[in-house]
Amino acid sequence: MLPSFLKQAILVGSLLACFNAPLLSQTAPANTAAIESAKAAALSRQTVLRDAFIAAAGASNLPCPIPPPTIVITDIPSFGNYNPETNTLQTSIWEILQDREKAIFFRIAGPNSEESAARREFETGAHHWVFIHEMGHWWQACRKVNDDRKPYAFEYEADRIDAAYWRLTDPAIDEHMRATFQGLVDHAPNPLPPGHNEASYFNDNYQKLGPTPAYIWFQSRMCVKAFAENPAPTFVQTLRETGHP
Ligand SMILES: [Zn+2]
Repeated sequence: MLPSFLKQAILVGSLLACFNAPLLSQTAPANTAAIESAKAAALSRQTVLRDAFIAAAGASNLPCPIPPPTIVITDIPSFGNYNPETNTLQTSIWEILQDREKAIFFRIAGPNSEESAARREFETGAHHWVFIHEMGHWWQACRKVNDDRKPYAFEYEADRIDAAYWRLTDPAIDEHMRATFQGLVDHAPNPLPPGHNEASYFNDNYQKLGPTPAYIWFQSRMCVKAFAENPAPTFVQTLRETGHP
């Protein structure tokens, strides 16, 4: 990981705060056929990853009463979302990101980065890390632990499944994301008021935190914690422990 990234990472949070701002001007729009082709290619790749997760989850010998989630390619501001009511998993593609969303990944890639480098950061962050985090939420739906869970336990559990999945299948993803989240934690301002417990504060202010850079700080802290768990849990262990804090 380039040190330059760590200096830039602090800016990511403030950029995320701009998600709800009015639409800025776009770079030259890709033509419709090219976008449809890119969507089809992403759908195919993400379906392979979804099915690989489900196949690996089979080793837990725990049943899942719901079908694999339907993947929807759309410009989703958080770069991924699982909706248990519709059993759909939304993910985006580089070609349809808004400029302010692309800017986040240019900053992560470092100063004067080529578009290909920024795009790689997006692919790792959204199509690998966030996508499997959302599959973790699908697994929670399988295990029927969606209801009345506190947000911190719910989110941390998905991060823990995510970290264990990549540790098993492609540790380079974990290493990359560990550096990314550590950079955010080290360089972004700490939004936790003195004297407050991290988990309780996150739970009590969940709705308010949602659209702010502070939310990214809390999520980053959870990911760093998941990476640091020692001994590191196996993927199957995280699946079996779902719903058992
Ligand atoms: Zn989540």
